[in-house]
This record gives sequence, C-alpha cells and structure tokens, in this order.
Amino acid sequence: MTAMAIFRSRTWLSRSFSSLSSHPLRVCVVGSGPAGMYTAEKMLKAHQGAEVDIIDRLPTPFGLVRSGVAPDHPETKIVTNQFSRVAQNDRCSFFGKVTLGSSISLSELRNLYDVVVLAYGAESDRALGIPGEDLSGIYSAREFVWWYNGHPDCRNLSPDLKNTDTAVILGQGNVALDVARILLRPTEELATTDIACHALAALEQSSIRFLPLQSLALNQRSCLKSVICCAKRMSYYYRKVYLVGRRGPAQAACTAKELREILGTKKVQIHIKEEDLHKSPEDEEELKNSRIRKRVYELLSKAATTGPSLPSSGQRELHFVFFRKPDSFSESAEYPGHVSGVHLEKTGLKGVGSGKQIAVGSGQFEDIECGMVLKSVGYKSVPVPSLPFDHKNGVVPNAGGRVISDTSGDPELIEQGLYVCGWLKRGPTGIIGTNLHCAEETVASILHDLEHGLIASPSTSTKPGREGLLQLLDDRNVRAVPFSGWEKIDCEERKLGSLKGKPRVKLGSWEDLLKVAM
Ligand code: NAP
Repeated sequence: MTAMAIFRSRTWLSRSFSSLSSHPLRVCVVGSGPAGMYTAEKMLKAHQGAEVDIIDRLPTPFGLVRSGVAPDHPETKIVTNQFSRVAQNDRCSFFGKVTLGSSISLSELRNLYDVVVLAYGAESDRALGIPGEDLSGIYSAREFVWWYNGHPDCRNLSPDLKNTDTAVILGQGNVALDVARILLRPTEELATTDIACHALAALEQSSIRFLPLQSLALNQRSCLKSVICCAKRMSYYYRKVYLVGRRGPAQAACTAKELREILGTKKVQIHIKEEDLHKSPEDEEELKNSRIRKRVYELLSKAATTGPSLPSSGQRELHFVFFRKPDSFSESAEYPGHVSGVHLEKTGLKGVGSGKQIAVGSGQFEDIECGMVLKSVGYKSVPVPSLPFDHKNGVVPNAGGRVISDTSGDPELIEQGLYVCGWLKRGPTGIIGTNLHCAEETVASILHDLEHGLIASPSTSTKPGREGLLQLLDDRNVRAVPFSGWEKIDCEERKLGSLKGKPRVKLGSWEDLLKVAM
C-alpha cells in the first residue's frame, strides 16, 4: 500500500467512525443481532461516558432479525428501527465485515477495549450423530432459513425441491414451524414478502407444493384430468411435509401463536393421530404447570378432532408425527449419496424428576420415505480461540454475563472486562425480546464491576479503543463497512423492492452487498 493510499484509507475510516469524549469507557460489542444491539442500547443509556463499537462479520447488521425471522413475519422486524437509532447514536459505531477470530483475535480485542461483550449468537447446528447424516438432501434448518432469508453464506445452498414430493422436518420448535410454513404457504403470498428471490423462484418450482394450473401449457391444461391421474399414480399429487417430534403433543416445543398460524395456512390439510393425544397423569401435571404447553396441546387436539378437510385441488398435507426419534437416514438406490428416507424409532416417555419427561426408544421402528430432510433440533454456538467454553451446554460459562474462566462456576475465576450476552450466554432459546432482559443483566454486571474497580475507570485506562481498532484493521488491510455502508444497502434493497411490490429485494451475495456498501 502506498503512503498516500494509507493516508486516504485512514482519513476515510476516521471520518466514518468518529468519537466524542477524550476519556470514554471503551466498549466493544461483538455481534449486531438483538443481543448485541440491546447491550449497546442499554450501555449507552446507562453510562454517558461510554463509547460503544459494534463489530459484525457480515456487512449487514441485525443478525437473526435479518437472517432468522421468517419473511412472512414483517411485524417482528420492526425492531430494526430501534436498533438503527442505537447505531446512529453519536457515541456508537458499527464495523461490518470484521470477523472475531480472523480479522482480529479475542486477546487483541481485549487489549484494545475496557469492556468486550460477546453477543455473536449461535451460527452452527446441533448434530444428531446418527448414520447417514451426511447424505445430500439433508440440511440443517438454519441453513435453509439463511437460504430463504438471503444470508450471503447460503446463497448457493440450492436445496433440491423438484425431485421429491415429501419433506421431513425433525423437531417441533418454532424454527421447525417456520420452515414448514415456508415450504407449504402459497407462493403468491410469499411473493409480497422480503423472501430472497432465489428462494421464491425455487419454491415456485417445488414439487413439495401443488403444481398450479397456470404453470401448465395450454395443451396440458386441456388434459388436466389425465395430468392429475398421472400425478396421483406417481404419488406426486399430494405434497407432504412431516413434522416429527421425539416426545408428545404435551411437550411440543413450539408456541401457540406460531402453531395457530401453521394450522390456518391456506390449502394445507392437517393430519394428527388422535391416539397420540392420550394424556398420562405426568402429562396432565406438565400441562398444568405451563400455560404455553396447555394452549399448544389444546390447539393440536382441536386440529386432530376436526380432522383433515376433504381433498381438493392444490392441497398439501402437513403431518404432525409424535413419539418418534430419528435413528438413521437411508440412502437412495436410484441416486447414490442422496437421502431417500428417515428410519424412526417409536418412543415412550420416562419421568426424570421435577416434572420433566424424556423420550426413550421402544425398539420398534418405522420409515418415512422422503427426498429432503430439514434438521431443526437446535442451533449451536461456536467458540473462538482463548474463549472459555462449556462444550456440553454450548455456552460460555458466565455469572450474570461475566465470563468465568472454566466450567466450575467459581465466581472467583472471572475474566476481567469480558462479558457475554444472548444465545452465547444462555443457549439457543427465547424470542427477540428475551435478549432485552439478557442485555439488562449483562450491562448491570458491567456497571457493578466498574463501580467496584474490577474494570479500570475511563480516567486511568490506557486502552486505545476505537483508534486502536482502526489502526489494527488498517494494518491488516481489513476494510470495515460502516453503518452508512449498510444504509446504502438498505436503500438499494428497498428501491429494488418497490419495483416488485415487495418491502425489499435482498442483495444475496457478498459481492453484491460489498459493491453497494463500499
Ligand atoms: P427449540 O424450541 O429448542 O426446539 C428444538 C426441537 O428439536 C424440539 O422439538 C426438540 O425436542 C427437538 N430435538 C432436540 N434434540 C433432538 C434430537 N436429538 N432428536 C430429535 N429431536 C430433537 O429450538 P428452535 O426451534 O431451534 O428455536 C430456537 C428458539 O428460537 C426457541 O426459543 C424458539 O421459540 C425461538 N423462535 C421463535 C420464533 C417465533 O417467536 N416466531 C421463531 C423461530 C424461533 P425436545 O423438546 O424433545 O427436546
């Protein structure tokens, strides 16, 4: 790099990321999803001398709100207005395309900042650890969600939706319900959402949904009857999605609002076996103790007793399968290397104390044939070098958000100035709002530690903070995307969206995002 180029790049960086106070409390938040943004907001409010830098490996902020929340849930995304105001605060700066662990290490970050809060979530998946898990046609729900939400890392996932009429989703949490709904919902309804264009095009072609009349050529329409007969013979007429849970309807992990939504999806026949609804005294006890579970159970019972509507054209089937755990995946003889089914073991429930029941195998098995499997059994956080990590529970050991050096839980072993928030702190559970309380707790710990001298006070601290980060990124030739870069992406996506009657058209590749942002 020439001296002039270095000068220009430094001037650009310091203009884009300006600071205010000469002795601020230098805070770095890693991750700009709900946990990170709420932490930044609470920190800025609670400490008027705090200067908060947010780094994210993506050029776009908002984490799961952008790449996790379903496209047909726009109301959930409104929170980004509040998060934008946080990022636009004079004491806050956003550094996109800066990756903890490769652009900068954790120890470097801790040397630069008085306080580091890790809120980078859970970007991997729990594995089932059963034979056949690596076959093609098996995806994690996270990958599938990233794909339809235009996450640049899953742009090329290209799940094959054309060569099968059946998808099996393992797990019955809200993510499982999201992916089932996206697979089954009429594409005319999805077309007006911010679903990624490549995903909408693939879903329109999907054989997991009905082949619409309009997509048939005129001569084919005239002989529709024979097409339907042929499709029925090939079992390609009724498209099926199975939602498989290892426990029963009294333990289903989803919530009532999301369940009600999928039960009411247009042109979807719901199948639930009435015998699965039988309740043991232990189930009764569980339902008595959880209002959400009770409501979910009631909705499932109502859907089971109502039964599926009479078959009509364009209808798809959603089967809730209870008391089955995946044992292995089978490989297609026709397409070696590709999944052709799931081998399931029937289960029963066993009490393990404090009202909890777990699934235990019965030794009886059955198979569901399918060409696609989505594993929706939970997300997983991934540690970075030198970060204490509890591999069993997939979280960073912490006390109220203060990182503890090992899993013993000994509060004496606190890592000074290092904190955690969100899924990395408590595991992959909870809705967006849960992160607000989580951030409040972490920020309260930071303030307490500051007050008690466990963090150097801003007047005595020698940490360079933002200036040091800019210098280090500059030395490594890492060109961060400032919040104004994201605003350019946002503006472009909305503009493209307005031409198509959508809230936005997401730029789905790294190349497109960076071209607009920089
Ligand atoms: P989740 O709610 O924890 O559900 C995980 C599912 O996987 C459960 O059905 C679980 O069954 C099953 N499972 C786990 N390990 C398994 C195994 N080895 N074999 C078979 N099944 C297994 O997780 P999630 O659906 O990924 O959701 C994550 C969080 O995000 C949740 O808190 C969820 O509510 C939230 N979320 C909310 C919304 C919304 O509000 N609209 C949307 C999406 C996600 P068991 O119950 O038997 O363990």
